[in-house]
Amino acid sequence: MRKLSKLKWLILAIVWCGFTDQENEIKATYLANCGFLYENDKSKILIDPFGTEYGKFFYLPSEKTKWNIIKGNAPFNKIDLLLITHIHGDHFNAILTESFLLNHSKAKMICPSQVYKQMKDSCSSFAKIEPQIISPDLSMNESKRIIINDFSVTTIRMQHGTDRRLEGLSNSDYTEYEKTENFGYVVHFDKKNVFHQGDGCLRINDKALKNIDCPIDIAHLSYFDWDSISMEIVKRDLKADNVIFMHGTKPAKELDSEQFQGVKPQIIFFNQELESRIFD
Ligand SMILES: [Zn+2]
Repeated sequence: MRKLSKLKWLILAIVWCGFTDQENEIKATYLANCGFLYENDKSKILIDPFGTEYGKFFYLPSEKTKWNIIKGNAPFNKIDLLLITHIHGDHFNAILTESFLLNHSKAKMICPSQVYKQMKDSCSSFAKIEPQIISPDLSMNESKRIIINDFSVTTIRMQHGTDRRLEGLSNSDYTEYEKTENFGYVVHFDKKNVFHQGDGCLRINDKALKNIDCPIDIAHLSYFDWDSISMEIVKRDLKADNVIFMHGTKPAKELDSEQFQGVKPQIIFFNQELESRIFD
């Protein structure tokens, strides 16, 4: 009898640990470029899923994946929040976003005012989706914490990176200090915090990064930050446990650089669309 009761306790403990672990878990699914789905057992957050431009330089989500996101096919069902970092065509498309919000009527969206304005100017059903859109007016380096259902999001206005050029996009469109409104986001899940900077360059955003007052579980190195200086910021200032690579280029010459080779062993790579990983 006594043995049985011990066994019961053991089973209960194992089941309890299982539940606890699941509560701590964040699953990240890679779409393409800076596009990810982050989820825990309660909430699903999509970020920058609708890239359609600059496919010559960057990887974009496939038409099939974009269709599944808009239609809400698993794993893109019951999305709580869509986050858009900035207006550039490798991160955002107004018409696809409109279709998404119409189909996901319970989903909210956070975006910079430039994105909001483009949707207002180009979406025929804007009046219907407008209540779903949150667009805080933030000056450079300002932040705002927004509560959504079971989680909250710190939205931080960051300077878009300035030291790379793209054919077909005027340099001045994104290098001038105030011209491209880029939002970085810290998603505060129950037990874990995820930071995504969009095209914000960590090295020139030290004031903006001061808004982050919690340790980060998942951070990213991106197009403007692929070196040991950026890795130090991520590890020392953000205290990030996991660092995911994003916004890789074609043909990925950055991976061969000496600077990158130094930090490569500390970075997590997603190579395939819809590849996912659980962080516990
Ligand atoms: Zn950009």
